[in-house]
Amino acid sequence: MTIEHAIVRTKPKPWGSLDLRPWSLASTRDGPIGELWFERPGLAAPNLAAPKTALLLKMLFTTEPLSIQVHPDDAFARSIGLANGKTEAWYIVSAIPGAKVAVGLNYPRSAAELRAAVTDGSIADIVHWQPVHPGDVIFIPAGTIHAIGAGIVLVEIQQHSDATFRLFDYGRERQLHIENAIAVATAGPREIQLPAERLSGARTVLTVNSYFALEQTDLAPGSVWMLDAPKETWLLAIEGHAQLGSTRLAPGDAVFLEADHAEIEVGANGLKALLAYPGPKVNPAALTERGAAGASCVSHASPSALPAGLETAALKQSETPNWLL
Ligand SMILES: [Zn+2]
Repeated sequence: MTIEHAIVRTKPKPWGSLDLRPWSLASTRDGPIGELWFERPGLAAPNLAAPKTALLLKMLFTTEPLSIQVHPDDAFARSIGLANGKTEAWYIVSAIPGAKVAVGLNYPRSAAELRAAVTDGSIADIVHWQPVHPGDVIFIPAGTIHAIGAGIVLVEIQQHSDATFRLFDYGRERQLHIENAIAVATAGPREIQLPAERLSGARTVLTVNSYFALEQTDLAPGSVWMLDAPKETWLLAIEGHAQLGSTRLAPGDAVFLEADHAEIEVGANGLKALLAYPGPKVNPAALTERGAAGASCVSHASPSALPAGLETAALKQSETPNWLL
């Protein structure tokens, strides 16, 4: 039974940003921050080590292009002594005009052609660049060559892994991993990505795969919801506010839950949030509205036994978050 307000760890990166607002007030005095990692609070204190999570939730802030890179699948990762591979997905929070990402190659190449393109730097011209806009979702299965351009803020959900093989880094002096990269890369166009699927007015499945489901939730002002998290679950607020159990959620706040459930009381401006939990299936019961069906107040009596006005009053009361009163 776990509900935790995630802590945020900052990661300096040469391609990062000096302005993380409104997502974080962390200091950038020592240089640009590229990533915010949301972690279970126990992991910050050695004495209170919490179990590692299968998923890793991050925000990325880019002012320069990231390296062109690829991640291994589980089989390759294990063959070189790593715990697992890395499949990831991005949700674009904001993007300057013309911002772009690269996913896959523009057309199939042989391993020799890929190697030549890495050697002479033309790899940056043969990856498939596409413009991105807020709300776009990009699925990056292991083996997909990819890069993130400048001027983007995005949320990344991924298998918890550091296994990144860089093919090209625009002359920055970071290590490349060309042999491993060529060994794991699919040297061709990206896999077709299934479109987002709307489950209800409040829930849209952005992507679901063997490793994780990523949903966008749009909760109406003043509504009350039950979040059910049988397995590890992350909720990250993007817009608006809410109260989740004893935790106040504002943009950039994340909560971790496992084998637990929590009530979400949505603030006056609604709540847009991302919800992530292990795949391979969507959990229809992950989020259910309270109050709308009268579950919390009317269930003790047959609804038909209540005068219509009283029933409405009871529902209204149950939909008004206590902390707003
Ligand atoms: Zn990556």
